[in-house]
Amino acid sequence: MQHEETRWQVAVANRILSAFGLASELTASLGHASMRVPEAPDSFLIKGRGYELDILSELGPEDMVLCDLEGNKIEAPDGVSQCYEVKMHSCIYRAFPEVQSVVHAHPRFTILMSVLEKRLRPMRNEGARLVQKEIPIYPHSKLILTDEDGSGVADTLRAHGKAALLKGHGAVTTGANLEESVMSMVQLEEQAQLNAWAFSLMGRDHPYTSDDLLAEAAAQPPFWQIPHFGMQGPPARAPFGGGGFRGHGLWAYYVDKVSRDL
Ligand SMILES: [Zn+2]
Repeated sequence: MQHEETRWQVAVANRILSAFGLASELTASLGHASMRVPEAPDSFLIKGRGYELDILSELGPEDMVLCDLEGNKIEAPDGVSQCYEVKMHSCIYRAFPEVQSVVHAHPRFTILMSVLEKRLRPMRNEGARLVQKEIPIYPHSKLILTDEDGSGVADTLRAHGKAALLKGHGAVTTGANLEESVMSMVQLEEQAQLNAWAFSLMGRDHPYTSDDLLAEAAAQPPFWQIPHFGMQGPPARAPFGGGGFRGHGLWAYYVDKVSRDL
């Protein structure tokens, strides 16, 4: 099998989606994380379809499917095909050369907000910047099966760059790595849940964390420059997304937690 390290990372990322509840219970077999192969960027690895047990949290590196940017299968286990919505991934990789990872999931509150066509607003710090800019909605609930469907999602995504909702269906997030695309989906669903509650309590025009408050937070100096920390420079480990795949902090915890049997 080719690209063993990338296979491992993609399988782990799919398991992390499940660990965060984004592919569990009703959606245990739904959704997929994919990653462009670093040494062969015209191809990507993704969860497939046709396994004896098709559950994201149970799949391993050998179960991942290698595809080209047309969504064609290059390498897969016997009897396993690409996932049904492989065109969502291939069309996004074709349209956005800078995107290294794509995640599609069917999270409950994100779907609710897409049907209500309620603009998501920042309601907490985690993911605030993701939803500060209006997230576009692909106006169909059908599966993304054809090149036309996938290109439609990619065109919708262009208005935001990192996230789009699919009406009554789910969402897609992108990233420079698996951590970013997966954690964006986690944060998107968290923001959608708070938006749903706020909508229920206060109506469509409910209060939210304003641009001014987010700008104030963005203008803060890094903590290590504040005198009482007594630090001369930034910590050796940069926050979020620094370093290799395993990273540190929350992501590292989940990578370890879901990969113990791999
Ligand atoms: Zn879907």
